Amino acid sequence: MASPSHPDIERVLWTEDDILGRVAELASQISLDFEGGSPPLVVVGVATGAFLFLADIVKRISLPLRVDFVRVESYGSGTESNGAPRISSDLKLDVEGSRVLVVEDIVDTGHTLSALIAHLRSKGAVSVSVCTFLDKPARRKVRLELVGEGKFYRGFECPDCFVVGYGMDFNELYRNLPYVGVLKPKLYS
Ligand code: 5GP
Ligand code: MG
Ligand code: MG
Repeated sequence: MASPSHPDIERVLWTEDDILGRVAELASQISLDFEGGSPPLVVVGVATGAFLFLADIVKRISLPLRVDFVRVESYGSGTESNGAPRISSDLKLDVEGSRVLVVEDIVDTGHTLSALIAHLRSKGAVSVSVCTFLDKPARRKVRLELVGEGKFYRGFECPDCFVVGYGMDFNELYRNLPYVGVLKPKLYS
């Protein structure tokens, strides 16, 4: 295991090499699964946390696709979901009749993605798939109901602790770390 390279990080869970290796695997699988042209593929990133993951994965998906972002507010400045997410910045693209692949940083309780999937369904997406970089299944409170032939992809299963880096923040900091680590609990408790 790599040693922490930031003083606020207690331990590193996934190094940059681990991450990029896994991203390449996910991108190949997605390229295979979505091969075949129509309807068009729209990759929807959940800002801000998914920005690095989205950038790394779309570069490796060998299919025509469009990219858009939504913003879903579900966390304040703390480390617990408030359970009532809100789409605070909507898509620019029209996804009616499209296959949508949502790219998210981490699924925790599932409230954020459930709300977003319902939103995309209501906009007429023919399928909604999810590709989350991390998954914390131990903390799930709501089951994700994918749309149509939607598939679920995840990079890594994450232990039940608060992580930062590779896009993920605490109080908007640490997003630029190229690896994922556990924040020292004294920083938020
Ligand atoms: P959910 O609605 O599934 O409970 O929460 C999803 C959102 O909470 C994620 O998209 C992410 O922004 C945030 N979140 C959940 N767990 C963590 C974590 O360990 N670290 C960080 N930085 N954000 C988290
Ligand atoms: Mg997120
Ligand atoms: Mg956050």
